[in-house]
Amino acid sequence: MGSLTIKNITIGDGSLVVIAGPCSIENREQLLEIGRSVKNAGAVILRGGAFKPRTSPYSFQGLGEEGLKYMKEAGAETGLLTVSEVMDSPEIELVASYVDILQIGSRNMDNFSLLRKVGKSGHPVMLKRGYMSTIEEFLLAAEYILKEGNRNVILCERGIRTFEKLTRNTLDLSAVPIIKKMSDLPIIVDPSHGTGRVDAVVPMSKAALAAGADGLMIEVHPNPRKAMSDGQQTLDYDAFGSMMDELRSLNAFLHHQYAAVSQAKMSAV
Ligand code: PEP
Ligand code: MN
Repeated sequence: MGSLTIKNITIGDGSLVVIAGPCSIENREQLLEIGRSVKNAGAVILRGGAFKPRTSPYSFQGLGEEGLKYMKEAGAETGLLTVSEVMDSPEIELVASYVDILQIGSRNMDNFSLLRKVGKSGHPVMLKRGYMSTIEEFLLAAEYILKEGNRNVILCERGIRTFEKLTRNTLDLSAVPIIKKMSDLPIIVDPSHGTGRVDAVVPMSKAALAAGADGLMIEVHPNPRKAMSDGQQTLDYDAFGSMMDELRSLNAFLHHQYAAVSQAKMSAV
């Protein structure tokens, strides 16, 4: 119950599913390098925005189709599945021709005509919670996709806007157990957008797994300070690698394979 298989990846079966990659695809070489690095660290899906929903129209808007070509190449080279955002319905088939999963971002969660269209398309969809939406509204938005006969839906909790100013959003981890109870769909957590702070990403990733999340989405960049978007919430390769080591042990513990893990460690010494 609650699992979904896309190609060779099952989400919701207790395995550690981590989606990682840059906020925005910046150039070909960098994306290929990020793909190899996150794959090495244990990620199974590569993320990267080509059509970017930016608060300011003067900020970098993404590379568009050119970026999607690099995603396809990085996916083919590394064997990672790929996910990228669709902002508007004319882009659905274009984005789907390059990546495995279509992301519907927070700002479009209640764009019902877009939801119906990605539903009709049949392509796997990762639906992010609207930053002003209740859990019930989030689940009803997913229903718009399901109602069109598309069951390939992953939910993503990414935080909601509150009065708190020290975080970009308030990451609502209580949504995870509640959604697990109310829905059959897998739910992952995005602590990068959910907190907007690099120092909060690792602890909130652990908390998300402990709360029952089926996976995580993490922004990773070789040099976060130089990233074209969201550097303040982005891990570098080293931080991502060590977080993945910790998450593997935690996930094994949470899924009752702790004895097997510690035994393997003991026999290695
Ligand atoms: C993203 O994941 O690239 C993104 C823009 O996130 P959100 O829609 O949650 O703001
Ligand atoms: Mn981002």
